[in-house]
Amino acid sequence: MSESSARPTTSLLGKIAPIFDTHAADPAVGLSAEEANRIDVMRILPFIGIHLGCLAVIWVGFSWFGLALALGLYVVRMVGITAFYHRYFSHRAFKSGRVVQFAMAVVGNSAVQRGPLWWAAHHRHHHRHSDEVVDAHSPIQHGFFWSHCGWFLCRANFKTHLDRVKDLQKFPELVLLDRFDWAVPVLLLISCLAAGWLAPASWGTSPLQALIWGFCISTVATAHCTFFINSLAHVWGHRDYATTDTSRNNFILAILTMGEGWHNNHHHYQSSARQGFRWWQVDVSYYVLWTMARLGLVSDLRPVPEAVLNEARRGAPMRLPVSEPAPAL
Ligand SMILES: [Zn+2]
Ligand SMILES: [Zn+2]
Repeated sequence: MSESSARPTTSLLGKIAPIFDTHAADPAVGLSAEEANRIDVMRILPFIGIHLGCLAVIWVGFSWFGLALALGLYVVRMVGITAFYHRYFSHRAFKSGRVVQFAMAVVGNSAVQRGPLWWAAHHRHHHRHSDEVVDAHSPIQHGFFWSHCGWFLCRANFKTHLDRVKDLQKFPELVLLDRFDWAVPVLLLISCLAAGWLAPASWGTSPLQALIWGFCISTVATAHCTFFINSLAHVWGHRDYATTDTSRNNFILAILTMGEGWHNNHHHYQSSARQGFRWWQVDVSYYVLWTMARLGLVSDLRPVPEAVLNEARRGAPMRLPVSEPAPAL
């Protein structure tokens, strides 16, 4: 690598360019670990903006249409993250054709959690190094806030590690979506405005209200419930499997995230399409995948082996990895 490309660019254009083409440059190149792990102001602006947008509900008010839009988009996009980004792109827990695969990537991307390759690459690394120092979002290594949202707001974890997702890199349409990961969220934002504009006057809504409820409130709720799996699901809940990490099973998180709260199950056996291993472990994302399989949209949902079910025992101990103390972040 040349000296010029090894140093971070200091021009305004150089700082803005990676926001639009996320594969253009790695903003952490040339920085010390401490610098790379500082919150990146440029990256945090859209994140803050969507949060502040929620406060505008004071001015736009309530309507049943706004609430239904927020809830509908929450459910669809949570499935996009849990069933598609997580179980398909990260773990290949079932199969699909190329068109459905792209549609699943678009739905996941609409949740405003970066592109499918970025998401899967970081998640695969989390499983490979769960709760070790190099695990970007381990609450026991880096603290609760960092595991919840600090880790992706810094330059160190901005880059899409294509070497971890070579199987996905074969598809140019997925790479394009990942490079311009803001395009689908912007389309959704415009669609929310249009929905409020097209809604009949009797529904009592407006373009701005549809934007605040459908985009801002729904996105923030989807995001933080997803982030809870990296933070709370490694702190709060019970353990059925003696995994080498702090993962927990948590009914409340499973309801909020449509099945992801059975995180200890998942850390123990990652390749299954279902994360609620027992009939009472509610896993809505799996029910969606089961229905999609019946409709012929996806196939080969990988089951949980009987031997894995038999290994479960309540209060299973932790066998945490022995690792160096965490560097100061
Ligand atoms: Zn996983
Ligand atoms: Zn985990």
